[in-house]
Amino acid sequence: MKHRILLSSPHMSEEGYEKEFINEAFDTNWIAPLGENVDRFEQELTEYVDIKYAAALSSGTAAIHLALKAANVGEGDIVICQSLTFSATANPIIYQGAIPVFVDSDYETWNMNPEALEEALKKYPEAKAVIVVHLYGLSAQLDEITSICNRYNVVLIEDAAESLGTTYKGQATGTFGKYGIYSFNGNKIITTSSGGMLVSNDEKRIEKVKFWATQSRDKFRHYQHSELGFNYRMSNVLAGIGRGQLKILDDRIQKKRYINSFYKKELSEFSEISFMPENNWSNPNFWLSVITLKTLSSNYLMDELEKQEIETRPIWKPMHLQPFFKDYDYIGGKVSEKLFTKGVCLPSDTKMTDEDLFRVVREIKRVMISCG
Ligand SMILES: *Cc1c(COP(=O)(O)O)cnc(C)c1O
Repeated sequence: MKHRILLSSPHMSEEGYEKEFINEAFDTNWIAPLGENVDRFEQELTEYVDIKYAAALSSGTAAIHLALKAANVGEGDIVICQSLTFSATANPIIYQGAIPVFVDSDYETWNMNPEALEEALKKYPEAKAVIVVHLYGLSAQLDEITSICNRYNVVLIEDAAESLGTTYKGQATGTFGKYGIYSFNGNKIITTSSGGMLVSNDEKRIEKVKFWATQSRDKFRHYQHSELGFNYRMSNVLAGIGRGQLKILDDRIQKKRYINSFYKKELSEFSEISFMPENNWSNPNFWLSVITLKTLSSNYLMDELEKQEIETRPIWKPMHLQPFFKDYDYIGGKVSEKLFTKGVCLPSDTKMTDEDLFRVVREIKRVMISCG
């Protein structure tokens, strides 16, 4: 029986850094919440991406939620959001009682189309925030998007859940907007099993986020609350895993890049297959290697690979096509929809050997040749 090849799974360091940091937490009885690992994980991550402040939280979703709250998004406010993404990008807009307006992507980046963004802001000049996403580790067109947001005086939030380590013109994604968020969920490039981080250069806002994330306790001996609170802080044990994972993030990016170039080298002979876009102004982390098919059904290819115990996934189904979000406004064309129907995320697990990669490639070639 062949072992199953996975899309992307947790990969702890060979050196055992994560265990060392967890043991420290055990030895000092700083299990939860907060403690040394949380402070240091925040500090080490801010150094890595080069930003001033960070709040370690229980998930990337919690980080998006508190970014919206920090941006003063509330009941009835408009938030412009990339449609092609995971639902966790958009759900917190609803948590805040705000109204999403979805915008299309472009083929050049697969992320937010700046022209569609501008059209949305012309239609909704009162919008409070924009959420751009850097899908699969690809960077959005940040120069255009930040300048449009500045022109319309709207807060930019970057969902960099999938793009930790990706740079745009040499600067880390997640550090261009007023707020940026990262995720350390199980399948992300580094993981704490679950967790997230909110980053910003605004010290006061990050302080406030930490306050909200620990139940909004006012400074009294007794429990006193003058604001709504949340239980969103990262535990000290999980922050220990994060510190260990951060040490090997560059190794993981290197392996992800290797996987991508392996597929490219082996599969670019087929005119049926196109690879996700690469731009000379961006250095992606290649979290997932994603292809689109010209005429062949992506479901057929995924079924064939599944029969061989090879895990794949479609590209995210756009939010404006989701039953839950279908009644909200959408601005743009059919790019995100086409990417969804034509796209296949290939196994990008950093534990894969060359043998595993050849197995995936062999199977894809077999399908290509049998379909002419
Ligand atoms: C994973 C992910 C999130 C959510 O992060 P969690 O830590 O799972 O809550 C948000 N946005 C995108 C694009 C993601 O891929």
